[in-house]
Amino acid sequence: MLDPDLIARFTAIVGAHNALTDEADIAPHLSEPRGKFIGKSRLVLKPGSTEEVSAILKLANETGTAIVPQGGNTGLVGGQIPLGPEVVVSLSRMNRIRHLDEADAVITAEAGVTLQHAQEAAERKGLMFPLWIASQGTAQVGGNLSTNAGGINVIAYGNTRDLCLGLEVVLPSGEVWNGLKTLRKDNTGYDLKHLFIGAEGTLGIITAASMKLLPKPSDRATVFASIASPGDALALLSLVKKMSGSAVVAFEILPRSGLDMVIAHAGCRDPLEAPSEWYVLFELAGFNDAPEMEEAATGILAVAFEEGLVADATIAASGQQAAELWRLREMMSEVQRLEGGSIKHDISVPVSKVPEFLDSASEKVRQMIPGCRPVPFGHIGDGNIHFNISQPVGADREAFLAHWEHVAHEVHAIVRALGGSISAEHGIGTLKRDEMAATKQPVEIGMMRAIKQMLDPNGIMNPGKVL
Ligand SMILES: Cc1cc2nc3c(=O)[nH]c(=O)nc-3n(C[C@H](O)[C@H](O)[C@H](O)COP(=O)(O)OP(=O)(O)OC[C@H]3O[C@@H](n4cnc5c(N)ncnc54)[C@H](O)[C@@H]3O)c2cc1C
Repeated sequence: MLDPDLIARFTAIVGAHNALTDEADIAPHLSEPRGKFIGKSRLVLKPGSTEEVSAILKLANETGTAIVPQGGNTGLVGGQIPLGPEVVVSLSRMNRIRHLDEADAVITAEAGVTLQHAQEAAERKGLMFPLWIASQGTAQVGGNLSTNAGGINVIAYGNTRDLCLGLEVVLPSGEVWNGLKTLRKDNTGYDLKHLFIGAEGTLGIITAASMKLLPKPSDRATVFASIASPGDALALLSLVKKMSGSAVVAFEILPRSGLDMVIAHAGCRDPLEAPSEWYVLFELAGFNDAPEMEEAATGILAVAFEEGLVADATIAASGQQAAELWRLREMMSEVQRLEGGSIKHDISVPVSKVPEFLDSASEKVRQMIPGCRPVPFGHIGDGNIHFNISQPVGADREAFLAHWEHVAHEVHAIVRALGGSISAEHGIGTLKRDEMAATKQPVEIGMMRAIKQMLDPNGIMNPGKVL
């Protein structure tokens, strides 16, 4: 329990307006998108500056008060949800873009800037911030960095880690590290920013970041194609890469089971006439005048039809049509809620092993829960599949969800056997913490604990998460 005197001391740092103590005001900070974790906290602080974050952590460290950093609260593993009496530090008021340098192609944004805000700022200068995730209207730059978010463009531009040039971080002691460099090359010893990227708020609070911007492509082609199998998806990916070089900026796989749900619940229409077991959605981007990318896509499809890799396909004829095709993919996770319970996994395996993973995992879960409906989709170009399973039609939702841990255990065993990862892009948080021992080597866990102990000896930062 936080005593009233301590609450008053924290409140004095941010001002009464920015310290939430009322249950109704705190409630939105205690629930998360999947409704799996309901948190507990008596205090949410909304600092407006790095100095205020520093004062909060200094006081927390002195008094042994546990802190949970929170960005847009879109995380999918419960990392941003306080488990006990922790104080939530919401970065949402730190939402200024400090600098955008066109010549250096760098944006320096505070942690609470939403991803979409950062993208729009870049676009106003004819540039692009190429991180793209469906939660971008709410997710924040600090949260993206702390989870090392991925998304649909990783195949071309890498994940958040690859886009970061520098960080400003408040350490658990309250000390501020200004590492907001904008250098493309800097080989001066340990690259400390990488400790905080993907740390899920367990090592400090990111207050600002310098991120790479790229030229914004002027020409795009979006293609939706039906294919017979995930193996054919990979053969098509090789063809696309061979024929378009670095123009491929997204390459996603979608199953018919998911398409049916999107058509039934999201008001989308089937873009192709004949149904197929599997589909791919891919995008090419270039810098010359249109229709160069459309011509490239047409050429790729001609060869793919000839080689029997594609049964049917459509190329978006307008931006509106491209958005409609992307909506099929974006809605795929959300509509599963309307089909009852859904057990979700976010895994990666070497790209070549995706078909084997899909065969083995689908067979396994069908054996475990007869009638369940696998809806695996996602970033096949990166070997990252969201292996979601919808409950059998008419089954009891809670009884189905009670299988989550057991099913995840079996699916993750297949992932490990294939040399994969149990968290490709969502992180560990609370959801997967207990699987870390089976996931990492003892020497890795030992190094992680040593780093945690060195930076946060009093264990105030996001306790119970990741480790
Ligand atoms: C509809 C939907 C689609 C999504 N699609 C994708 C996707 O394609 N790819 C993907 O990778 N993820 C995806 N996600 C997951 C989520 O959006 C990302 O993990 C995102 O990066 C989280 O950002 P956030 O600001 O919401 O962070 P939060 O959820 O608030 O926090 C996430 C973690 O980061 C920590 N944290 C937050 N801010 C800071 C900070 N400033 N300093 C230190 N620690 C901090 C928190 O303590 C927590 O552990 C999706 C989520 C939803 C709901």
